Amino acid sequence: MDSEQLREYGHRMVDFIADYYKTIEDFPVLSQVQPGYLHQLLPDSAPDHPETLDQVLDDVRAKILPGVTHWQSPGFFAYYPSNSSVAGFLGEMLSAGLGIVGFSWVTSPAATELEMIVLDWLAKLLNLPKEFLSKGNGGGVIQGSASEAVLVVLIAARDKVLRSAGKNALGKLVVYSSDQTHSALQKACQIAGIHPENCRVLETDASTNYALRPELLQEAVSKDLKAGLIPFFLCANVGTTSSTAVDPLAALGKIANSNEIWFHVDAAYAGSACICPEYRKYIDGVETADSFNMNAHKWFLTNFDCSLLWVKEQDSLTEALSTNPEFLKNKASQANLVVDYKDWQIPLGRRFRSLKLWMVLRLYGAETLKSYIRNHIKLAKYFEKLVSQDPNFEIVTPRIFSLVCFRLVPKNDDEKKCNNQNRKLLEAANSSGKLFMSHTALSGKIVLRCAIGAPLTEEKHMKEAWKVIQDEASFLLHK
Ligand code: PLP
Repeated sequence: MDSEQLREYGHRMVDFIADYYKTIEDFPVLSQVQPGYLHQLLPDSAPDHPETLDQVLDDVRAKILPGVTHWQSPGFFAYYPSNSSVAGFLGEMLSAGLGIVGFSWVTSPAATELEMIVLDWLAKLLNLPKEFLSKGNGGGVIQGSASEAVLVVLIAARDKVLRSAGKNALGKLVVYSSDQTHSALQKACQIAGIHPENCRVLETDASTNYALRPELLQEAVSKDLKAGLIPFFLCANVGTTSSTAVDPLAALGKIANSNEIWFHVDAAYAGSACICPEYRKYIDGVETADSFNMNAHKWFLTNFDCSLLWVKEQDSLTEALSTNPEFLKNKASQANLVVDYKDWQIPLGRRFRSLKLWMVLRLYGAETLKSYIRNHIKLAKYFEKLVSQDPNFEIVTPRIFSLVCFRLVPKNDDEKKCNNQNRKLLEAANSSGKLFMSHTALSGKIVLRCAIGAPLTEEKHMKEAWKVIQDEASFLLHK
């Protein structure tokens, strides 16, 4: 590591990235390249001798950026946002600069302790019950993704129940979720060895805005108990991926608690909004949960990856995930004086991710973060109003946070034709390069999703996006 080279190149890289943000609106939001494009542009093997930073940056401009979909563009409305910010970027930079791997406390005490502190800070901002704080047996941890978060708690819950029911009971364990739950749960069940026939995917519909009905859960649990199966895990949602549905946590939690079912709440996207007092009600009932996750990298100005998971019983996690080989033994761990986050996650190695969250919290402060969230929700309301004023469109589910689910409803078209028109509309709008939205299906209807949450998005971008949608729709309708 040559410090002077780092200084020179580092400044140039920061300039390059700052210029990128300055001109981000010049790029098509969705990359327009064809599969395999890069193989034609780059050599077949690595260079034998050093090249210059100029050469590399020239290639980034000419060859890499065309293949980038610009998630930070103000016209990015697909999936859910993945925020980047100056504070988040600086935290990432510092983490890369320090270059530590903080799997055990001893490998960098500050990494473990800062993570515990910022997760406590955020738990307090969310007004999570005190059992999730690190003081007692609870605590928070940063995972790479919500998928990892749900996997580790599923494994913790599985092993907890198997300790009393016996290892042979694996085939009897039953998982519950709604049909709106992210596919991350299905993947976690596959990895954890849960029998596919024991995954109860409970149906939702428009009558509850796609929220899980507690009666359905109760029925399913009773039926499984009668059949000699072991209900052990429930995943509820606050802000589903398709439509931001919010499951009734208190009622679901009551059923879970009285049947000794581990209750996990996935608030990957919408959790950020719950730091605002007026949105906190959406996680009412979280006191009945065993674990809760939200992705700070989605809508909390913290660069990817930073998925926050809190548990009430850290012992359940560590009993399922800890290993203690000789080569990792150290005084602090052996004396049980410290948290070793390697035992709360799947990999051993872990980055110093808390730095960027700490920097976001300190450089912006909670009030700025609340305003940031509120502004996106205001923009979503504005977009929702534009859509609802056009008789060719409908809002498909009531907007709760910053996602608007809408679709074109051409007169006299049957459902299949209508779906085709919406697919075509989305394709045409995204090909314009001016925006990128994604789609989902709700009750068999193809729905367009406009998820507002990119840090640079302003009202003018919503106006422009709506114009693109309207123009493309009118072209389709008059074809
Ligand atoms: N849960 C919800 C509600 C999501 O919306 C997503 C992704 O958008 C996930 C889980 C999976 O997130 P990750 O990519 O962090 O695994």
